[in-house]
Parts: sequence; C-alpha cells; structure tokens
Amino acid sequence: MTGCQAELPPHSDHRCAVASDGTSIVLDFDSYGVNQRSHAHIVARLQAEPHITTLKIIINQANIQQPEHLYHYLRGFGVPVLQFVPFVALDDVGALTTESVHAEQWGAFLIAVFDLWVQQDIETLHIQYIDAALAIWCGQGSPFSGDNALLVEECRECPVLRFCHGDSPQHRIANDGKSALCAGYRQFFTYSAPYMKALRDLLKQHRSPVELMAILAQSR
Ligand code: SF4
Repeated sequence: MTGCQAELPPHSDHRCAVASDGTSIVLDFDSYGVNQRSHAHIVARLQAEPHITTLKIIINQANIQQPEHLYHYLRGFGVPVLQFVPFVALDDVGALTTESVHAEQWGAFLIAVFDLWVQQDIETLHIQYIDAALAIWCGQGSPFSGDNALLVEECRECPVLRFCHGDSPQHRIANDGKSALCAGYRQFFTYSAPYMKALRDLLKQHRSPVELMAILAQSR
C-alpha cells in the first residue's frame, strides 16, 4: 500500500485499536479521529500488508457523529473497500450500552456515507452495505440465506425485507424481537431506492454508473 493520503483529523487524542485478519484491517475508534500513534500504526500496517483490500470500521456512539470527517479520513488511505460494522450491545438491565449506536443514528450515518459516495466515489470506492444493496437491486440474489419463518411478523411483511432480512441475528435484541437498528435500515433502504434504481438502469444499459454522479452534480 503506497501513497496514503489520510490526514490526521483535529481533536485526535483518542484510542484506536487496529487488528488484521489477512485481507482486512479492523479499526475500533473511540472517536471519529485517531491519535498520532494510532494513525502511524494504521499507515505502518497498510505498508507492511500490501494485500489488505478492506478497512472494517467499528461504528460506535463516539464515531457515528461525524460521518463526513470519518469518510474522508478513511478514504484517504486508498484501500478499495470500506465496511462499517455497527456496535450494538445490551447492558446488565437490558438497555443499549452507552457505546452502542441507535437506530436513527445508524440510518442517518448510512445515508450520509451513501450521499458522499454517490456524489464522489461511485467508481473508485466500494462500500460493503451499498454494494450488497445494489446487487439485490440488480437481481443478483440476496446474500441472506436465513429462514423467513424465524423472523417476526413485522419483518416478514416489511417493504425492505429483501435488503435487510431482519438484520443479523445478534442485533435482534429489541423487546419485540426485531433488530435494534430496524428504523435505521428502513430509513436507509427507502432513501437510497431511487438512486439504486438509477444505478441499476445504467448498468442494465451497459452505461457507466458514473453518469449518475454527473446527473447529481448538474442538479445541485
Ligand atoms: S427494516 Fe426492520 S422490519 Fe424491515 S426487515 Fe429490517 S429489521 Fe425487519
């Protein structure tokens, strides 16, 4: 990995754990930023492991607040795939922990990242949840193999079921048996639908999805 352009953001006196699983690096920030040592650590890991293709970023209460800063910081590393992993856990009394993200925040985060990607980086950056949704729009099958019978009724009747499929089982910790992030996923899949349809149609016509970026630029 060469040519890292990630710039250290301000207010960066924070912790960042870095772990590698071969092709991806997992970043666990306690802020949208990282400190000088952590930043240098990430850069060194990327230089030492040139086969790294994915940055997996744990999204928690501290770093969900400023998606634009986080997006631009991560994009600067030049790694082709970003994967955002929401942190969701319950405390001893069954409430979401203070570090956990909430559904509405998660929806707003997914939309903010999507807006940046669709306006700037359609062709140059892969974002796992966007790729997965677009694949379903393009009829390439659902990545979900779970049994619908295991889902609560609201999920089985949900208009975005084919994209969300009840979310991952470890997030189904709300009192009603749904994902704690349900409202956020509904928000994102509903918001992104017109863009996804436009991308699907461009791809069907063997046209470049970058055309959507130009259309959006003209409409602003
Ligand atoms: S958005 Fe909510 S209701 Fe719909 S499938 Fe996902 S978790 Fe279930």
